Amino acid sequence: MPEIKEMPVEQSTSTRLPSKGYAAMAASENLIPWEFTRRNPRPHDVLVEILYCGICHTDIHFVRNDFGMSVYPLVPGHEIIGKVRQVGDHVTKFKEGDTVGIGCLVDSCRECDNCKHDLEQYCLNGATYTYSIPERNGDGITYGGYSNQIVCDEDFVLRVGDNLPLEKVAPLLCAGITTYSPLRNWKVGKGQKVAVLGLGGLGHMGVKFAASFGAEVTVLSTSPSKEADAQKLGAHKFVFTKDEEQVKKVTGSFDFILDTVSAEHDYNFYLNMLKTKGAMVCVGLPNTPAVVPASNLIFQGRSLAGSLIGGIAETQEMLDYCEANNITAEVEVINIKDVNKAFERMEKSDVKYRFVIDLATLE
Ligand code: NAP
Ligand code: ZN
Ligand code: ZN
Repeated sequence: MPEIKEMPVEQSTSTRLPSKGYAAMAASENLIPWEFTRRNPRPHDVLVEILYCGICHTDIHFVRNDFGMSVYPLVPGHEIIGKVRQVGDHVTKFKEGDTVGIGCLVDSCRECDNCKHDLEQYCLNGATYTYSIPERNGDGITYGGYSNQIVCDEDFVLRVGDNLPLEKVAPLLCAGITTYSPLRNWKVGKGQKVAVLGLGGLGHMGVKFAASFGAEVTVLSTSPSKEADAQKLGAHKFVFTKDEEQVKKVTGSFDFILDTVSAEHDYNFYLNMLKTKGAMVCVGLPNTPAVVPASNLIFQGRSLAGSLIGGIAETQEMLDYCEANNITAEVEVINIKDVNKAFERMEKSDVKYRFVIDLATLE
């Protein structure tokens, strides 16, 4: 059981929307129940009752203030599935009762070059993330999906079909799009040898997408116990990266590596597994700087790149692709009271392969 202290109540005015969820009050503390307020829905907003919210490792980084930018109290969660309960007067895309998703973005400037080209995640004026960042109109800070409801502009809300189990769809809103986008951008497909580094929430979606796009997929993992699962997820090969013999066999062999590792690791060790002209794309976000000698890229013409989630249009494309191809996450649904235990397990790479909070358990 998480340690439950006396429930703090946000100082608020009565004009905002009373809401409840779980929040971190400081970097070193467990999440605890919290009552807070959200902005009142505006004409272009929808009010969404949250049914499920996935637990992304970024939630842990933010709660622990790994990037030095967290704002407390912090309500994490950006893999949100819910039902529209109210729509503003100018909303055209959604109606009450619709099943919808909200991912890592709830707003952006909509005017810069990137916003105009469906790359809101790279908004040149700063995207508004789903939690721990000021709202665009100075209306407080954003609070995420470990909560009963959320208010969001309709342009940042995704359509979700009712054919797939919703708890297994929730992780697509971050883990799904974060792996789909770079695989599409680097045109991964038939005839290519692709490695997915790290078999957690992102990694297992990376395996499913890369296999679905026709690539030969290898999982690079520090957990030998995940080998059978890797195969079930669609991987053709598995390399336990602490076994020198297994590593030797894949040296210089991959066209593309998707690096999903959340903790400090040696990029050079994995770059050496790329073929000439191969690319390694980082999506995992360790908070320590990496040392990569230029020579390690230059002499085999290798690329090292990064990728951040995906824009709204591409996120919708990914959700539609998943619905058409019956792709969802492997999840362990939890009571929100067990959220701190779930964080601890993820920090030990013990997750199969995404924890998803059932918000019906929020009292
Ligand atoms: P996760 O479920 O905890 O999975 C991370 C996996 O990395 C672990 O299961 C483990 O896989 C591997 N790993 C952990 N420590 C390692 C180490 N020291 N050396 C090698 N491998 C290690 O996390 P996640 O939710 O997938 O997120 C992964 C990372 O992506 C986080 O840093 C998160 O913040 C970041 N992220 C980035 C974006 C983006 O837009 N770029 C979006 C979402 C998340 P094995 O057991 O197989 O080794
Ligand atoms: Zn995430
Ligand atoms: Zn912008």
